[in-house]
Amino acid sequence: MALAEQQAEDMVMKEVKNFIGGEYRGSSAERSFDNIDPCTGQLIGKVYEAGREDVDAAVSAARDALDGPWGRMTDADRSELLYAIADGVDKRFDEFLEAECLDTGKPHSIASHIDIPRGAANFRIFADAVKNVSTEAFRMPTPDGNGAFNIAVRKPKGVIGVISPWNLPLLLMTWKVGPALACGNTVVVKPSEETPTTTALLGEVMNEVGVPTGVYNVVNGFGPDSAGAFLTEHPGVDAITFTGETRTGEIITQAAARGLRDVSMECGGKNPALVFADCDMDKAIEGTLRSVFANCGQVCLGTERVYVERPIFDEFVSRLAAEAGKFTLGLPQEAGTNMGPVVSHEHQQKVLSYYALAVEEGAEVVLGGGVPDMPAELAGGAWVEPTIWTGLADDARVVREEIFGPCCHIRPFDTEEEAIALANDTPYGLAAAVWTENMSRALRVSPQIDCGICWVNSWFLRDLRTAFGGSKESGIGREGGVHSLEFYTELQNVCIKI
Ligand code: NAD
Repeated sequence: MALAEQQAEDMVMKEVKNFIGGEYRGSSAERSFDNIDPCTGQLIGKVYEAGREDVDAAVSAARDALDGPWGRMTDADRSELLYAIADGVDKRFDEFLEAECLDTGKPHSIASHIDIPRGAANFRIFADAVKNVSTEAFRMPTPDGNGAFNIAVRKPKGVIGVISPWNLPLLLMTWKVGPALACGNTVVVKPSEETPTTTALLGEVMNEVGVPTGVYNVVNGFGPDSAGAFLTEHPGVDAITFTGETRTGEIITQAAARGLRDVSMECGGKNPALVFADCDMDKAIEGTLRSVFANCGQVCLGTERVYVERPIFDEFVSRLAAEAGKFTLGLPQEAGTNMGPVVSHEHQQKVLSYYALAVEEGAEVVLGGGVPDMPAELAGGAWVEPTIWTGLADDARVVREEIFGPCCHIRPFDTEEEAIALANDTPYGLAAAVWTENMSRALRVSPQIDCGICWVNSWFLRDLRTAFGGSKESGIGREGGVHSLEFYTELQNVCIKI
């Protein structure tokens, strides 16, 4: 077969369609956009962009499904189906892995340990939660002496609009879809335009395991004047759960204000790590290496500001730089690759603009700072070097703004109070890491940091039953365990007079 024919065939294979009412559909607006491999810059497929009509159809399918067999299922039946979805993802693990790595460029070594298994786990954990979490009941006195009982009943909110980002596409999407379905809602998902494939593929699993049609719908496209806005502005959507940038979260919250619809917002961060002189240096280096550079720095919980107590500052900087200099950048499937490109050329340009700004703002570049030399076949990819700076002022934009790349600034501090003040000197409040072997200090410092999750001597260790979310400009609300059930249900009080 000629190369052109082969490519044409591959293109057909990699079409990503909308998934509405259990069927794959093109675009009513007859619009599509390119899916680009961030490793090479080459076209890998075509994505059908949902028009307003498609979004209307998806919301209608989701509404209708609430009144169908799905709406009559018991918690136990739904939980069983959620387990079947998770098993269905496991069964097609390699396809999900391949698709996720092609869309994002991330190494198989990361996606096979984090993205895909945790994507499946999100269905199991919430299937269990919905069966095991109780609601409240109060007995109250009444003037006639007979009393009354109050019983809380959880009910699904209805149709949930899910807007997800590109950094952990399957994992962050199922983190919302898992609990939404466990609670009996139906969903319309708008994945990131950069990474639509695994969200579409999940539709096949839904059909395979017998999830009723219309329970899970997918519309592809962008934000403004596209599927994202059409979905979040849609009056048929009862609540919206979003993960992405703070500025986007503000726009979506405004859209949700019409009709007073509930929102869950998981947004950006500029997360600090505090490294005290009494830390275990090996652990602190290993943990900070992961928290700064994992997934090429594209993790919302990742560290971009590192504060190190002065006596160990020089040693910490040189050891972290030595380790960060050892990353192997390459194709996802190559053994040994432990860093991919950033997700797109657009994001590469954003990260590189901060690399240039750091120099303008007076940083000392300890490591990296540019585009790595890559072999010819990868030269068109969105590669950036792992980068470390020191010497910036606390009000430098590079220290204040979220970059979302493989980079950090390291600054010395002298006292615990100063370290806490520096950590909190940000409009964001998502995550922090504290490195110390002194547990009194750990217990004293961590509650003083304004953030949703504070790790001590670890990073990214997640028990999915715990509350997850951000304070300040990092978000609204908490998801995880019972907190997800609170968002994805309406709690009704039934008061029964005896
Ligand atoms: P983004 O805000 O650009 O996009 C997120 C999603 O919102 C995409 O699906 C996008 O198409 C959609 N969108 C954009 N504009 C919209 C609009 N006007 N209406 C409706 N939808 C719209 O974010 P991103 O670049 O995909 O992701 C990176 C960001 O996500 C970073 O800021 C990161 O910190 C944040 N993030 C936060 C968490 C968390 O849990 N707090 C997790 C992962 C990522």
